[in-house]
Amino acid sequence: MTIDLRSDTITQPTPEMRRVMAEAVVGDDVLGDDPTVTALEEYTAGLLGKEAAVFMPSGTMTNQVALRVHTEPGDEIILEAEAHIYYYEGGGPAALSGAMCRLVPGDEGIITAAQIEKVLRPADPHFARTRLVCLENTHNRGGGKIFPLDEIERIAALCQEKGLILHLDGARFWNACVATGVSPAAYAKPFDTVSVCFSKGLGAPVGSALVGTAEQMQRARRFRKMFGGGMRQAGIIAAGALYALQHQYERLAEDHANAQRLAEDLAQVEGVEVDPASVETNLVVFGVPGRSAVAVAEALEQQGVAVLAVGAERLRAVTSLMVDGEAVAQVAAKVAEVLQKR
Ligand SMILES: *Cc1c(COP(=O)(O)O)cnc(C)c1O
Repeated sequence: MTIDLRSDTITQPTPEMRRVMAEAVVGDDVLGDDPTVTALEEYTAGLLGKEAAVFMPSGTMTNQVALRVHTEPGDEIILEAEAHIYYYEGGGPAALSGAMCRLVPGDEGIITAAQIEKVLRPADPHFARTRLVCLENTHNRGGGKIFPLDEIERIAALCQEKGLILHLDGARFWNACVATGVSPAAYAKPFDTVSVCFSKGLGAPVGSALVGTAEQMQRARRFRKMFGGGMRQAGIIAAGALYALQHQYERLAEDHANAQRLAEDLAQVEGVEVDPASVETNLVVFGVPGRSAVAVAEALEQQGVAVLAVGAERLRAVTSLMVDGEAVAQVAAKVAEVLQKR
Protein backbone atom coordinates (compact mmCIF):
# COMPACT_ATOMS: atom_id res chain seq x y z
CA MET A 1 0.00 0.00 0.00
CA THR A 2 1.30 3.41 -0.99
CA ILE A 3 1.95 5.92 1.77
CA ASP A 4 0.08 8.78 0.14
CA LEU A 5 1.48 12.17 1.12
CA ARG A 6 0.48 14.05 -2.03
CA SER A 7 -2.21 16.13 -0.34
CA ASP A 8 -4.82 16.23 2.40
CA THR A 9 -7.44 16.26 -0.38
CA ILE A 10 -7.03 12.46 -0.70
CA THR A 11 -8.84 11.80 2.59
CA GLN A 12 -11.62 9.19 2.42
CA PRO A 13 -14.88 9.23 4.38
CA THR A 14 -14.90 6.90 7.39
CA PRO A 15 -17.60 4.20 7.71
CA GLU A 16 -19.43 6.30 10.34
CA MET A 17 -19.31 9.37 8.10
CA ARG A 18 -20.73 7.32 5.22
CA ARG A 19 -23.57 6.12 7.46
CA VAL A 20 -24.44 9.69 8.49
CA MET A 21 -24.36 10.75 4.83
CA ALA A 22 -26.60 7.86 3.76
CA GLU A 23 -29.17 8.77 6.41
CA ALA A 24 -29.14 12.54 5.83
CA VAL A 25 -32.49 14.28 5.43
CA VAL A 26 -32.35 16.15 2.12
CA GLY A 27 -34.33 18.56 -0.05
CA ASP A 28 -33.81 20.87 -3.00
CA ASP A 29 -31.21 23.28 -1.66
CA VAL A 30 -31.53 25.73 -4.57
CA LEU A 31 -35.12 26.18 -3.36
CA GLY A 32 -33.83 26.46 0.22
CA ASP A 33 -35.35 23.10 1.18
CA ASP A 34 -32.39 21.07 2.37
CA PRO A 35 -32.31 21.00 6.18
CA THR A 36 -28.87 19.33 6.32
CA VAL A 37 -27.25 21.99 4.14
CA THR A 38 -28.95 24.69 6.23
CA ALA A 39 -27.70 23.04 9.44
CA LEU A 40 -24.14 22.94 8.09
CA GLU A 41 -24.32 26.58 6.99
CA GLU A 42 -25.67 27.73 10.35
CA TYR A 43 -23.17 25.67 12.32
CA THR A 44 -20.23 26.95 10.25
CA ALA A 45 -21.33 30.58 10.46
CA GLY A 46 -21.79 30.22 14.23
CA LEU A 47 -18.34 28.70 14.65
CA LEU A 48 -16.77 31.65 12.83
CA GLY A 49 -18.94 34.22 14.61
CA LYS A 50 -20.48 35.44 11.33
CA GLU A 51 -24.11 35.91 10.26
CA ALA A 52 -24.37 33.43 7.41
CA ALA A 53 -22.63 30.86 5.24
CA VAL A 54 -23.14 29.38 1.77
CA PHE A 55 -22.17 25.78 0.99
CA MET A 56 -20.37 25.24 -2.33
CA PRO A 57 -18.74 22.35 -4.19
CA SER A 58 -15.13 23.57 -3.89
CA GLY A 59 -12.74 26.04 -2.32
CA THR A 60 -11.99 27.46 -5.74
CA MET A 61 -15.66 28.31 -6.11
CA THR A 62 -15.97 29.90 -2.65
CA ASN A 63 -12.95 32.09 -3.38
CA GLN A 64 -14.07 33.03 -6.89
CA VAL A 65 -17.62 33.79 -5.74
CA ALA A 66 -16.15 35.98 -2.97
CA LEU A 67 -14.13 37.95 -5.53
CA ARG A 68 -17.24 38.39 -7.65
CA VAL A 69 -19.26 39.48 -4.60
CA HIS A 70 -16.69 42.08 -3.60
CA THR A 71 -15.48 43.54 -6.92
CA GLU A 72 -16.57 45.03 -10.24
CA PRO A 73 -14.63 44.54 -13.50
CA GLY A 74 -11.47 46.66 -13.49
CA ASP A 75 -11.09 46.59 -9.72
CA GLU A 76 -7.77 45.61 -8.24
CA ILE A 77 -7.19 42.83 -5.74
CA ILE A 78 -4.10 42.71 -3.54
CA LEU A 79 -2.71 39.21 -3.06
CA GLU A 80 0.46 37.53 -1.91
CA ALA A 81 2.52 36.59 -4.98
CA GLU A 82 1.92 32.82 -4.64
CA ALA A 83 -1.63 32.96 -3.30
CA HIS A 84 -3.79 29.99 -4.32
CA ILE A 85 -6.41 32.39 -5.74
CA TYR A 86 -3.80 33.72 -8.16
CA TYR A 87 -1.63 30.65 -8.64
CA TYR A 88 -3.97 27.68 -8.77
CA GLU A 89 -7.45 28.85 -9.76
CA GLY A 90 -7.20 28.80 -13.54
CA GLY A 91 -7.08 32.57 -14.04
CA GLY A 92 -10.46 32.87 -12.31
CA PRO A 93 -10.03 36.47 -11.09
CA ALA A 94 -9.63 37.69 -14.70
CA ALA A 95 -12.12 35.30 -16.30
CA LEU A 96 -14.94 35.43 -13.77
CA SER A 97 -14.64 38.86 -12.13
CA GLY A 98 -12.59 40.90 -14.63
CA ALA A 99 -10.35 41.82 -11.72
CA MET A 100 -6.70 42.88 -11.79
CA CYS A 101 -4.32 41.11 -9.41
CA ARG A 102 -1.63 43.16 -7.68
CA LEU A 103 0.93 40.80 -6.20
CA VAL A 104 2.96 41.41 -3.07
CA PRO A 105 5.85 38.97 -2.48
CA GLY A 106 5.62 37.41 0.96
CA ASP A 107 7.84 35.56 3.38
CA GLU A 108 6.57 31.97 3.03
CA GLY A 109 3.24 33.46 2.06
CA ILE A 110 3.03 36.00 4.86
CA ILE A 111 2.70 39.68 3.90
CA THR A 112 2.53 42.71 6.19
CA ALA A 113 0.30 45.75 6.52
CA ALA A 114 3.32 47.93 5.70
CA GLN A 115 3.87 46.08 2.41
CA ILE A 116 0.22 46.42 1.47
CA GLU A 117 0.16 50.12 2.32
CA LYS A 118 3.02 50.72 -0.13
CA VAL A 119 1.06 49.39 -3.12
CA LEU A 120 -2.23 51.19 -2.41
CA ARG A 121 -3.14 53.67 -5.10
CA PRO A 122 -4.71 57.06 -4.49
CA ALA A 123 -8.19 57.70 -5.88
CA ASP A 124 -7.37 58.89 -9.40
CA PRO A 125 -9.05 58.00 -12.71
CA HIS A 126 -5.68 56.75 -14.03
CA PHE A 127 -5.61 53.92 -11.55
CA ALA A 128 -7.55 50.73 -11.08
CA ARG A 129 -9.74 50.97 -7.99
CA THR A 130 -8.13 48.95 -5.23
CA ARG A 131 -11.03 47.14 -3.63
CA LEU A 132 -10.04 43.91 -1.94
CA VAL A 133 -7.17 42.32 -0.01
CA CYS A 134 -6.99 38.51 0.12
CA LEU A 135 -4.92 36.57 2.65
CA GLU A 136 -4.36 32.81 2.95
CA ASN A 137 -4.24 30.91 6.27
CA THR A 138 -2.49 28.52 6.38
CA HIS A 139 -0.51 29.35 3.26
CA ASN A 140 -0.33 26.51 0.76
CA ARG A 141 2.77 27.44 -1.26
CA GLY A 142 4.25 28.90 1.92
CA GLY A 143 4.47 25.31 3.24
CA GLY A 144 1.49 25.45 5.58
CA LYS A 145 2.66 28.66 7.25
CA ILE A 146 0.31 30.12 9.86
CA PHE A 147 -0.69 33.76 9.33
CA PRO A 148 -0.04 35.50 12.69
CA LEU A 149 -3.22 37.02 14.14
CA ASP A 150 -1.53 40.28 15.16
CA GLU A 151 -0.40 40.95 11.56
CA ILE A 152 -3.89 40.10 10.30
CA GLU A 153 -5.27 42.65 12.76
CA ARG A 154 -2.87 45.32 11.48
CA ILE A 155 -3.92 44.54 7.90
CA ALA A 156 -7.60 44.69 8.88
CA ALA A 157 -7.08 48.10 10.52
CA LEU A 158 -5.41 49.35 7.32
CA CYS A 159 -8.31 47.99 5.22
CA GLN A 160 -10.79 49.69 7.52
CA GLU A 161 -8.94 53.00 7.24
CA LYS A 162 -8.70 52.79 3.43
CA GLY A 163 -12.17 51.39 2.77
CA LEU A 164 -10.89 48.02 1.52
CA ILE A 165 -12.57 44.65 1.94
CA LEU A 166 -10.63 41.77 3.50
CA HIS A 167 -11.19 38.15 2.41
CA LEU A 168 -9.51 35.03 3.77
CA ASP A 169 -8.77 31.95 1.70
CA GLY A 170 -9.09 29.55 4.62
CA ALA A 171 -8.79 26.23 2.81
CA ARG A 172 -6.64 25.15 5.78
CA PHE A 173 -8.18 27.59 8.28
CA TRP A 174 -8.96 24.76 10.74
CA ASN A 175 -5.30 23.74 10.78
CA ALA A 176 -4.30 27.28 11.77
CA CYS A 177 -6.89 27.27 14.58
CA VAL A 178 -5.89 23.87 15.95
CA ALA A 179 -2.15 24.61 15.73
CA THR A 180 -2.37 27.98 17.50
CA GLY A 181 -5.32 27.40 19.85
CA VAL A 182 -6.90 30.60 18.48
CA SER A 183 -10.65 30.03 18.15
CA PRO A 184 -12.24 30.04 14.67
CA ALA A 185 -14.30 33.10 15.69
CA ALA A 186 -11.22 35.03 16.83
CA TYR A 187 -9.27 34.12 13.69
CA ALA A 188 -12.24 35.00 11.43
CA LYS A 189 -13.13 38.28 13.17
CA PRO A 190 -10.83 40.64 11.22
CA PHE A 191 -12.21 39.40 7.88
CA ASP A 192 -15.29 40.43 5.93
CA THR A 193 -15.55 36.99 4.33
CA VAL A 194 -13.83 33.67 4.94
CA SER A 195 -13.68 30.59 2.73
CA VAL A 196 -13.34 27.30 4.64
CA CYS A 197 -12.89 23.76 3.35
CA PHE A 198 -14.38 20.50 4.61
CA SER A 199 -12.67 18.12 2.20
CA LYS A 200 -9.01 18.63 3.08
CA GLY A 201 -7.72 17.67 6.51
CA LEU A 202 -11.20 17.43 8.02
CA GLY A 203 -11.85 14.47 5.76
CA ALA A 204 -15.28 15.09 4.21
CA PRO A 205 -15.54 13.95 0.59
CA VAL A 206 -16.73 17.26 -0.93
CA GLY A 207 -17.40 20.86 -0.07
CA SER A 208 -16.40 24.31 1.11
CA ALA A 209 -18.31 27.25 2.55
CA LEU A 210 -18.13 31.00 2.18
CA VAL A 211 -18.91 32.83 5.42
CA GLY A 212 -19.82 36.51 5.98
CA THR A 213 -22.76 38.85 6.50
CA ALA A 214 -26.30 37.83 5.53
CA GLU A 215 -26.31 40.48 2.81
CA GLN A 216 -23.01 39.31 1.32
CA MET A 217 -24.18 35.69 1.42
CA GLN A 218 -27.41 36.59 -0.39
CA ARG A 219 -25.27 38.07 -3.15
CA ALA A 220 -22.98 35.01 -3.00
CA ARG A 221 -25.98 32.72 -3.58
CA ARG A 222 -26.75 34.51 -6.83
CA PHE A 223 -23.17 34.15 -8.10
CA ARG A 224 -22.98 30.54 -6.91
CA LYS A 225 -26.00 29.84 -9.13
CA MET A 226 -24.50 31.85 -12.01
CA PHE A 227 -21.20 29.90 -11.78
CA GLY A 228 -23.12 26.62 -11.82
CA GLY A 229 -22.68 25.72 -8.16
CA GLY A 230 -26.34 25.54 -7.12
CA MET A 231 -26.75 21.94 -5.94
CA ARG A 232 -30.04 20.16 -5.30
CA GLN A 233 -30.11 17.33 -2.68
CA ALA A 234 -26.72 18.46 -1.41
CA GLY A 235 -27.53 17.37 2.14
CA ILE A 236 -25.89 14.03 1.30
CA ILE A 237 -22.50 15.74 1.09
CA ALA A 238 -23.26 18.46 3.64
CA ALA A 239 -23.86 15.68 6.19
CA GLY A 240 -20.29 14.46 5.65
CA ALA A 241 -18.99 18.00 6.08
CA LEU A 242 -20.95 18.56 9.29
CA TYR A 243 -19.81 15.20 10.65
CA ALA A 244 -16.19 16.06 9.82
CA LEU A 245 -16.43 19.42 11.55
CA GLN A 246 -18.00 17.93 14.67
CA HIS A 247 -15.89 14.76 14.95
CA GLN A 248 -12.64 15.11 13.06
CA TYR A 249 -11.58 18.64 13.98
CA GLU A 250 -9.43 18.00 17.04
CA ARG A 251 -7.56 15.19 15.34
CA LEU A 252 -5.88 17.68 12.98
CA ALA A 253 -3.35 17.99 15.80
CA GLU A 254 -2.23 14.42 14.98
CA ASP A 255 -1.48 15.46 11.41
CA HIS A 256 0.63 18.33 12.71
CA ALA A 257 2.55 16.03 15.07
CA ASN A 258 3.14 13.56 12.21
CA ALA A 259 4.36 16.35 9.93
CA GLN A 260 6.76 17.54 12.63
CA ARG A 261 8.07 14.00 13.10
CA LEU A 262 8.50 13.62 9.33
CA ALA A 263 10.42 16.90 9.05
CA GLU A 264 12.73 15.88 11.90
CA ASP A 265 13.39 12.49 10.27
CA LEU A 266 13.99 14.07 6.85
CA ALA A 267 16.40 16.61 8.33
CA GLN A 268 18.66 13.63 9.19
CA VAL A 269 18.75 12.41 5.59
CA GLU A 270 21.79 13.36 3.53
CA GLY A 271 20.79 15.36 0.46
CA VAL A 272 17.58 16.68 1.99
CA GLU A 273 17.14 20.30 2.98
CA VAL A 274 14.42 20.99 5.51
CA ASP A 275 14.10 23.07 8.68
CA PRO A 276 11.75 21.26 11.08
CA ALA A 277 11.16 24.56 12.91
CA SER A 278 9.54 25.96 9.75
CA VAL A 279 6.94 23.18 9.73
CA GLU A 280 3.95 24.63 11.56
CA THR A 281 1.02 22.49 10.41
CA ASN A 282 0.52 19.47 8.11
CA LEU A 283 2.64 20.47 5.10
CA VAL A 284 6.31 19.52 4.85
CA VAL A 285 8.17 21.19 2.00
CA PHE A 286 11.71 19.88 1.54
CA GLY A 287 14.53 20.56 -0.88
CA VAL A 288 16.62 18.01 -2.75
CA PRO A 289 19.44 20.31 -3.96
CA GLY A 290 21.04 19.20 -7.20
CA ARG A 291 18.31 16.62 -7.90
CA SER A 292 15.21 16.86 -10.05
CA ALA A 293 12.16 16.95 -7.78
CA VAL A 294 10.08 15.22 -10.46
CA ALA A 295 12.63 12.38 -10.79
CA VAL A 296 12.86 11.96 -7.01
CA ALA A 297 9.05 11.86 -6.76
CA GLU A 298 8.92 9.17 -9.46
CA ALA A 299 11.59 7.08 -7.72
CA LEU A 300 9.77 7.46 -4.38
CA GLU A 301 6.55 6.27 -5.99
CA GLN A 302 8.39 3.02 -6.88
CA GLN A 303 9.24 2.73 -3.17
CA GLY A 304 5.60 3.15 -2.20
CA VAL A 305 5.70 6.79 -1.11
CA ALA A 306 3.72 9.40 -3.04
CA VAL A 307 4.70 13.09 -2.75
CA LEU A 308 4.35 16.05 -5.12
CA ALA A 309 7.06 18.11 -6.81
CA VAL A 310 6.30 21.77 -6.06
CA GLY A 311 9.44 23.29 -7.55
CA ALA A 312 12.45 22.25 -9.66
CA GLU A 313 14.22 20.87 -6.57
CA ARG A 314 11.41 21.03 -4.02
CA LEU A 315 8.94 18.40 -2.89
CA ARG A 316 5.90 18.49 -0.66
CA ALA A 317 4.62 15.84 1.73
CA VAL A 318 1.25 16.34 3.41
CA THR A 319 0.03 14.41 6.43
CA SER A 320 -3.65 13.56 6.82
CA LEU A 321 -5.94 10.99 8.40
CA MET A 322 -4.89 8.58 5.62
CA VAL A 323 -1.41 8.17 7.12
CA ASP A 324 -0.73 7.15 10.71
CA GLY A 325 2.46 7.65 12.71
CA GLU A 326 3.69 4.18 11.80
CA ALA A 327 3.47 4.91 8.06
CA VAL A 328 5.06 8.34 8.45
CA ALA A 329 7.98 6.78 10.35
CA GLN A 330 8.89 4.73 7.25
CA VAL A 331 9.19 7.67 4.87
CA ALA A 332 12.62 9.14 5.66
CA ALA A 333 14.39 5.79 5.11
CA LYS A 334 12.77 5.49 1.70
CA VAL A 335 13.81 9.02 0.79
CA ALA A 336 17.39 8.18 1.87
CA GLU A 337 17.34 5.04 -0.29
CA VAL A 338 16.18 6.98 -3.35
CA LEU A 339 18.72 9.75 -2.86
CA GLN A 340 21.62 7.28 -2.53
CA LYS A 341 20.95 6.02 -6.05
CA ARG A 342 21.95 8.22 -8.95
C1 LIG B 1 -7.10 23.52 -1.84
C2 LIG B 1 -7.10 24.98 -1.75
C3 LIG B 1 -8.17 25.74 -2.27
C4 LIG B 1 -9.38 25.21 -3.00
O1 LIG B 1 -9.32 23.97 -3.46
P1 LIG B 1 -10.53 23.16 -4.15
O2 LIG B 1 -9.78 21.97 -4.63
O3 LIG B 1 -11.07 24.01 -5.22
O4 LIG B 1 -11.52 22.86 -3.09
C5 LIG B 1 -8.12 27.10 -2.08
N1 LIG B 1 -7.12 27.68 -1.44
C6 LIG B 1 -6.09 26.99 -0.92
C7 LIG B 1 -5.03 27.69 -0.15
C8 LIG B 1 -6.03 25.60 -1.07
O5 LIG B 1 -5.01 24.94 -0.54
